[in-house]
Amino acid sequence: MNLILLGPPGAGKGTQAKLISSNFNVPHISTGDIFRANISQNTELGIRAKQYMDKGLLVPDEVTIDIVKDRLTKDDCKNGFLLDGFPRTVKQAEALDEFLNDNGSVIDASILIDVPKENIFERMTGRRVCSKCGASYHIKFNPPKVEGKCDLCGSEVVQRKDDSEETVKERLDVYDKQTQPLVEYYKSKKVLKPVDGAQDINKVFEDIKESLGEKNVK
Ligand code: ADP
Ligand code: ADP
Ligand code: ZN
Repeated sequence: MNLILLGPPGAGKGTQAKLISSNFNVPHISTGDIFRANISQNTELGIRAKQYMDKGLLVPDEVTIDIVKDRLTKDDCKNGFLLDGFPRTVKQAEALDEFLNDNGSVIDASILIDVPKENIFERMTGRRVCSKCGASYHIKFNPPKVEGKCDLCGSEVVQRKDDSEETVKERLDVYDKQTQPLVEYYKSKKVLKPVDGAQDINKVFEDIKESLGEKNVK
């Protein structure tokens, strides 16, 4: 199954991605995580991406598209994948469709996690992420079992630099202008699956499974 997770920053894409990825056995591909891994390893890509990320702006399409195409040719994507944070522009979506088309494949579902703006600020400023595996936590809504340590891998849990109040505003603006048009894009291709993201984490996950046609979900 080829899946996309769509939604504003802070909607819960990363959180749901971990659940979907293990339930449906597809690799979780997060462009944000790829960029952050490159930043911490100080690669050329990381140095370039950081200039944009710190300001809340998108990394240029030509850089991002090639990274995703390269990732999708890996063996573990043969039976499907879950993209989190990509595509974020119409140009990226078109490039992805073209790439899949060339490989005789399509997007099966684009899951839109819908969350009102009022909730997003609190989610993002309270977000903490695992410095190693990228797992997402929240100081109030989803704290790690042991304070400061990732439930999944035990590594240190930190605050992202771009989760400051000022940058969050910019990122929401960027979403409205550059990413929001993808809702129409996938709706017109009849693969959009809107889900109410303003519910607790497990309920959102159940709704996602239902929207993907998994019956008798417990
Ligand atoms: P969030 O989970 O809050 O939506 P991400 O981790 O997906 O944030 O992205 C963090 C930052 O990485 C973005 O603000 C942007 O600078 C960069 N980025 C991630 N994915 C893309 C993409 N598909 N195109 C351009 N920039 C991206
Ligand atoms: P995204 O990847 O879309 O930017 P995350 O999955 O990182 O979003 O979630 C943003 C923040 O909101 C994190 O702190 C996360 O723990 C929290 N969160 C995610 N889903 C929910 C939910 N359904 N209810 C409350 N908080 C949530
Ligand atoms: Zn971890």
